[in-house]
Amino acid sequence: MSMQKIRVGIQILGFILIPELFISIFGAIEEIYKAVISGSFALAALWPDILLIAVVVIATVIWGRFFCGFLCSFGAMQDLLYLAGKHLPFKPHLPEKADRVLKYLKYAVLLFIVLGIWTFALPGDMVWSPWTVFGMYAAFWKGLPAQAVFLSLGGALLLITMAGSLFVERFFCKYLCPMGAVFALLSRFRVFRIKKPAGECGNCRSCTGKCSMSIPLYKYERVDSGECINCMKCTESCPRQNVRLAPAPLVTGLVAAAAVAGVSMVGSLPTPVFAGEASESSSVAETEANVLKDGTYTGSGSGFRGETSVSVKVESGKITDISVESYSDDKKYFDKAESRIISEIIETQSTEVDTVGGATYSSKGIISAVDNALVAAGKTPSVSKETQPESTMVAPTEHKHERNGDGNGERNGEGRRKKQR
Ligand code: SF4
Ligand code: SF4
Ligand code: SF4
Repeated sequence: MSMQKIRVGIQILGFILIPELFISIFGAIEEIYKAVISGSFALAALWPDILLIAVVVIATVIWGRFFCGFLCSFGAMQDLLYLAGKHLPFKPHLPEKADRVLKYLKYAVLLFIVLGIWTFALPGDMVWSPWTVFGMYAAFWKGLPAQAVFLSLGGALLLITMAGSLFVERFFCKYLCPMGAVFALLSRFRVFRIKKPAGECGNCRSCTGKCSMSIPLYKYERVDSGECINCMKCTESCPRQNVRLAPAPLVTGLVAAAAVAGVSMVGSLPTPVFAGEASESSSVAETEANVLKDGTYTGSGSGFRGETSVSVKVESGKITDISVESYSDDKKYFDKAESRIISEIIETQSTEVDTVGGATYSSKGIISAVDNALVAAGKTPSVSKETQPESTMVAPTEHKHERNGDGNGERNGEGRRKKQR
């Protein structure tokens, strides 16, 4: 079986099993970065992110960007679209120099995200990102996100990316992907590199024409470029078997892909062993109990795939119960966030708690929903505006899934929780 068939097979598997992996990796970098700059770095809370990043970095430094060539579903989507657009009458051919200059754009995107969104907190809600919108739709069998997500800026950018991919191979990867920028920097240091002694080439430029990332291979005897995504089209297309990678591309590809995918699965497991330490490291904000009016309030916030709704009970000015009414996120991520966030809010009597590593968006959804509910109880909103729905509902409700006020996180009826799918 040819290398390309095996690669497509792995891409399909990745698409089905871990369509959001590329978001998880970038999200993990975001979590670690934000924790470091805010001085709230806690190993107990961030270990899944750290493990995922460590494996991705190690795999990339050893083998290069196999993740991009084999596992990333956003890359696979671009490959599919480029194939679909193969017979389009108009295919632009970018001059080598223009292509080289445009490839620097992704570093500007990375810089903007790190400085503008992560550091200075410009409006950075997930609907900015075409990646995130795609990740939600790629996992459609787990439940479609709200239509509004697709009509967001991220949705518009996704459409532009998809249109661009019909004409330019790996359009987003080459020019815009911030994660691609990180990978390109890392893979410059990789141990295993593709070699192609030019002495045997003559006037042939076949591999240059086949390169997914438009690397001018005819210039080199060894591929040092960080742009190489290890798609292995060059090794397969060479009529003289002159392009080589040792160890065998198939072995390295499989090992690298398995390592990253495996760690992603492990990282998404709940973290009960660290739960005690993690709650100690959470920020305990100023109590709001003295300003809360008694009653039961419902509120909603934006999770990863759409709305999270909660019911919050206030007695004697204190938050005593929080029940999840409904959520749209994937269960494994939501459970991971819920297992910590709700008990911490009750313990600290505040919504200013840390998000759970590896379940950031689900955490934000719960926090903003509780915050939203408490506005009707007299609380001043404490989360960013973009995660807040415009209106606040006040309605006494029956609890579907409660946590006790002592913060022990005991569940009262798992099966009764609603789930929007
Ligand atoms: S460059 Fe970005 S979008 Fe492209 S394959 Fe790599 S991580 Fe995925
Ligand atoms: S150099 Fe070869 S392996 Fe790297 S991107 Fe180009 S064709 Fe793919
Ligand atoms: S396809 Fe093979 S022979 Fe042709 S330029 Fe590339 S390495 Fe040389």
